[in-house]
Amino acid sequence: MRDNKEESLDPDEWEFSRALAHKMVDEAIDHLARVRERPVWQAMPEEVRATFQDELPLNPSPLETVYKEYKETVRSYPMGNIHPRFWGWYMGSSNFTGALGDFLAAVEGTNLGGGNTGAAQVEQQVLDWLKEIAGFPKSASGTLTSGGSVANLVAHTVIRNLSAGYDVRKEGVAELSRPLRFYASDQVHSCHQKALEILGLGSKALVEVPTDAHQRLQIDALQAAIVEDRAKGLQPACVIGTAGTTNTGAIDDLTSIADLCDHEGLWFHVDGCIGGVLRLAPEYADLVAGIERASSVAIDPHKWLHTPFEAGAVLIKEPKAHFATFEMHGPYLQLQERGMIAGKFLADYGLELSRGFRALKIWMAFKEQGAAKFGRIISQDISHARYMANRVEQHVQLELVAPVNLNIVCFRHVAADEGAAKTLNTEIMLRLQERGLAVPSDTTVNGKHGLRCAFNNHRTKREDIDDFLNDVLRVADEIISEENA
Ligand SMILES: *Cc1c(COP(=O)(O)O)cnc(C)c1O
Repeated sequence: MRDNKEESLDPDEWEFSRALAHKMVDEAIDHLARVRERPVWQAMPEEVRATFQDELPLNPSPLETVYKEYKETVRSYPMGNIHPRFWGWYMGSSNFTGALGDFLAAVEGTNLGGGNTGAAQVEQQVLDWLKEIAGFPKSASGTLTSGGSVANLVAHTVIRNLSAGYDVRKEGVAELSRPLRFYASDQVHSCHQKALEILGLGSKALVEVPTDAHQRLQIDALQAAIVEDRAKGLQPACVIGTAGTTNTGAIDDLTSIADLCDHEGLWFHVDGCIGGVLRLAPEYADLVAGIERASSVAIDPHKWLHTPFEAGAVLIKEPKAHFATFEMHGPYLQLQERGMIAGKFLADYGLELSRGFRALKIWMAFKEQGAAKFGRIISQDISHARYMANRVEQHVQLELVAPVNLNIVCFRHVAADEGAAKTLNTEIMLRLQERGLAVPSDTTVNGKHGLRCAFNNHRTKREDIDDFLNDVLRVADEIISEENA
């Protein structure tokens, strides 16, 4: 039997925890400062994997032991996206101030559901800054989300409810007399299909419009699809313009889409998960001209702002419709004019009630670095991509498989035919990853398979690109000579 002494989760000895926490910070700094010396990635050995099969620990262990285990079995096997030669898929590379922000937010413990708190002010201010960046008015509403997928889902929910013309929240989608249609290029991110499926509209509600040679949505084809769907009795609701596709960094002609949406009376949503912050880089701001005319935009701070995962954001120019889509209060959560719960209730603008204080890590990094610095990092990434594209074009053994639209390079080592190219380049990619030399990913553009480097990494230096291309050529030679042996 326990005696009746109360317990808490606080340490028995704060001084001991203080010393250990200091050690964790010291080692975290060493970990970051030496990131270049480590392999980008390494596979987890079976014996380490086996340690994750232990059952629920009922009894305590000293935190020092837990920390040691974390270092050995977890931190030694990271994704590697903080490494200067990680360019796979589309990650951010995090930042230390952001990490401190996450720590401080967790210590403070505030829930961003709503309420009269400093944290709520920080979130509103971060949203206001994102509005400035995207060219949205301060009157727009918004919310921070876990990422771009949820940010887009929040926007699509508002668009669905507004387009239906009746109370979808009450009646559900079954009452839709004319099925809704959302248009996007065939390069659109898969999260849009997922969102429309979740919203009960079905994947066929997403109409994928063909793209041009630069993977941009073809405006004529868009116009034709809308006319055709109207004739079929469907209801065009929204055009999704992508400001930076995940595959090749293509930026749709946002101005033409805005004109078309004005003319057709459609909602214009921009998926700016990649390029929504491009206006921070003055020399590239033109690329996203028209973004400011969208009715909503999704932005992903954990991508080009390098916020530690997770942080997404959505901004919506119809705050009333946004509120009407998500507002919900149980009897246990009634608002007050005064006291802790007073003020804008943030959960009225999204799916989640409880949310972490993810705004702090963004807020601190903006204040510390200045927004202009983020713009320069964006330009630097684009320069890296152009530099690499040049080097690829100059080398007879290498070829681009897609135009370099922004910060993404799709290229490959040449081979006898398409099948051989896919086999060779996949093997090059896997060997580079397995040896911890670099993490590129791969993709297929216009039927051509190739390696893909997305430069979204503030630690990358030009020599990383030189080293990487040398490694690609060396590994390719090795594979080819093995085949010929
Ligand atoms: C990454 C990405 C998304 C999805 O965002 P998550 O943060 O991964 O949920 C959506 N659209 C585009 C264009 C993206 O690049």
